[in-house]
Amino acid sequence: MRKKIILLMLTCSLTPLLCTAQQALAAAMPAASSPGAATAGAVPPAGVTVIRAGKFIDVEKGRELENQIIVIRGEKIEAVGANLGIPEGAKVIDLSKMTVLPGLIDCHTHLADLADAEPLEVLKRTAVETAYAAIPNARVTLLAGFTTVRDVGVYRALNDVAMRDAIAKGIFIGPRMYVAGAYVTISEGAGAMTGLSPDIQLPLDLRFGEANSPWEVRQRIRELAHRGADHIKVLSTGAVLTHGSNPKSIEFTPEELRAAVEEAANFGLRVEAHAHAAEGIKNAIRAGVASIEHATLIDDEGIALAKQHGTYLDMDIYDEECIQSSPDTPADFLQHDRDLAEAQRRNFTKAVRAGVKMTFGTDAGVCPHGINARQFAFMVKYGMTPMQAIQAATVNAADLIGHSELFGSITAGKSADIVAVNGDPLVNIRELEQVHFVMKEGKVYKFDE
Ligand SMILES: [Zn+2]
Repeated sequence: MRKKIILLMLTCSLTPLLCTAQQALAAAMPAASSPGAATAGAVPPAGVTVIRAGKFIDVEKGRELENQIIVIRGEKIEAVGANLGIPEGAKVIDLSKMTVLPGLIDCHTHLADLADAEPLEVLKRTAVETAYAAIPNARVTLLAGFTTVRDVGVYRALNDVAMRDAIAKGIFIGPRMYVAGAYVTISEGAGAMTGLSPDIQLPLDLRFGEANSPWEVRQRIRELAHRGADHIKVLSTGAVLTHGSNPKSIEFTPEELRAAVEEAANFGLRVEAHAHAAEGIKNAIRAGVASIEHATLIDDEGIALAKQHGTYLDMDIYDEECIQSSPDTPADFLQHDRDLAEAQRRNFTKAVRAGVKMTFGTDAGVCPHGINARQFAFMVKYGMTPMQAIQAATVNAADLIGHSELFGSITAGKSADIVAVNGDPLVNIRELEQVHFVMKEGKVYKFDE
């Protein structure tokens, strides 16, 4: 119980707006207050719940339906349809005045790190301090309607694995996480902790993924697979938010990228590649990665290659707003970003028009966690229909993560990951910025009636 109060206080001090919802939630979770049951979320919901959906977004068929009934048994969706009977004893949740859609998925987050404008701030905290301070990141992301994230790297290696497992055990609340474990990067590269004097030796967890040959890449991936990574993040080019980095430079060679994809596949893992420069993007696509992150300077050949290989583009076209407006952004990062932001948005439009497969990924952590949904309006502004933007964050995202059988649509047999908004996001996409109902695995985490 004491743990819960501390957690609540911590969260309230950081995100006062969410306090009411969280206090209501805490009150609704009696299991959490009994001794030895700090694992509130781990108690499986019993029985049958029925949701009445006024409007219903069918992301698989790309259409909107009205007056649908969703039957949920335990953690799973059992049936969906217009004329279903309501099983006896079922708990009914009336969302008949709302639009219901699948739980959202962000394919590019950094939940286990803190949103420092200056990466070197990491060095002022122990790994444990970072881990505790990151707990609210998971909470606000879930309460914003994101029931799953693909988390694509962490400076303190394996903090993300620990966070994923803590959420799964119900120690605290957050989205279902698929994690990278660390950044696989060249030394002093885009995913490295840079800007230190050369006589400083970092501890292992802050340089876990550094590799400088195909065999070192394989070694890092073997270690990450063993330590519980769900996918592998490689950095193919320089970065915007790394000291001494040039986003237009090539980092891993084609040989190293091929080694990464091949070695990851040996463990059943997919690879995502951070890439800004056009050649680095193409090197990664040719090597067989599942997605390109940022894809900032993708050229026509890169777009054609992505189509040919079925590579997803996961383009974070909103976060420029946060990078440029934060008073703390280091000057060298601002300079990197200014050159690239408009180009990325133009190329996003080109890729959408070309019909490349796209997912929703925000690089949350650059912008504060919990405002992920602000990117939807930018995806629409730069060429997607509202339905395409929602599909990017549901069916497409589930396909990229490799678990379409488990989530990504409201379909019988899948996990009951369901959100609802007041208006119709197909009319005004910004409705997704105010999610009023959040269910994950059949359990309600938020309901503002
Ligand atoms: Zn990122």
